Amino acid sequence: MIISLIFIGGCMKSKKIKSENEFENISYYRKQLNDRYLNYQEKNPSLSIEDIVTHVNIGLDQPYYTNTKETPFLNTNYILSNKYLYMSESYIPNNLEQIDSSYTSGKRLLVRDARLAFEQMAQDAKTQGYTIRAMSAYRSYQYQKDLYQRYVDQDGVETADTYSARPGFSEHQTGLVVDVDNKETIYTKFETTKEFLWMRENAHHYGFILRYPKGKEQITGYTYESWHYRYVGVEIAKKMKELDITFDEYYTRYIETKKENSQE
Ligand SMILES: [Zn+2]
Repeated sequence: MIISLIFIGGCMKSKKIKSENEFENISYYRKQLNDRYLNYQEKNPSLSIEDIVTHVNIGLDQPYYTNTKETPFLNTNYILSNKYLYMSESYIPNNLEQIDSSYTSGKRLLVRDARLAFEQMAQDAKTQGYTIRAMSAYRSYQYQKDLYQRYVDQDGVETADTYSARPGFSEHQTGLVVDVDNKETIYTKFETTKEFLWMRENAHHYGFILRYPKGKEQITGYTYESWHYRYVGVEIAKKMKELDITFDEYYTRYIETKKENSQE
């Protein structure tokens, strides 16, 4: 195989060889984004080639809520919702079921597989002396619309956008998300509880991941939320734990391209 390297002048700071081939070697490279990879690399010379392709594929080279599109893979456990991918107003996931009330703070709904996994997790935690309780789960488009509007009225759009999703963009609309607490400490302080530590060690065994981790705010687009857990299934959750990456990154590297190709 002949690899031609194109050297671009004026690159004094970094010794990195800038070549289109560098990007092409990445399995989730997308030809139509090539110019954006180059631009992003120029602005972020310290990032690896993998991270450049990953970030641009997610859309992170452009402001949140730009170039948005409707998320594919509806009604799967690998559906992605973030600040670039939304669900339509009419999207209500199939198989929404009520979570057993012994593990909730009221009537809460999850998609069947997520419900069963959550109940098992909460039950196992209970056996070991921990209280995991769902205090928010499925939220409809309309509910999120009202909630977001309330936050905007209170704090303004810019601040509201850092902690609340716009309608259609909330992961809660997937029916695969639970916000948890331990019944004693307010959920925003879940990080300080022994239940949080239990979740850190065990959630992935049940297919749940911490969706908005600390230090990954730029990638997820959300402030750290120690209480917000997303069901992705055991296989993906375990792999994500091993790789220590966010679901946005996992999705673009292992799901998006593969699934799109297999649909062609
Ligand atoms: Zn949440």
